[in-house]
Amino acid sequence: MDKTEFAFFRKQLGKTQREMSQLLGTSIKAIHSYEQGWRRVPVHVERQLLFLASRKNCNEHNQVLCWEMRGCPEDRREQCPAWEFQAGELCWFINGTICEGHVQTSWKEKMESCRACKVFASRF
Ligand code: SF4
Repeated sequence: MDKTEFAFFRKQLGKTQREMSQLLGTSIKAIHSYEQGWRRVPVHVERQLLFLASRKNCNEHNQVLCWEMRGCPEDRREQCPAWEFQAGELCWFINGTICEGHVQTSWKEKMESCRACKVFASRF
């Protein structure tokens, strides 16, 4: 997540930097430095911010389960942690999903495939 996207989601949530620091359990200085690009947004902060943004945007129309939206074949679906933990509306939050037929090994790799995915796009 870059500085622009971080600031976009904070504004989408309607939060000041102070309110955002309280929600994310970090300092105002850190929030400011993410938005200035002085510091990279850590994975745990990115994940939490995306979670909050997805909940803010959540409605009955955009919670179609990932395996339904993507038509995942049964054998792959049953090996996927999104299915195992019945978290088809939060699949992007869980590491180790197998959407492309293989386990995404890092958060970075996972986010590259999620950001190109219609499921992720539907959540925000
Ligand atoms: S690529 Fe990401 S958003 Fe798309 S189905 Fe897989 S985990 Fe969900």
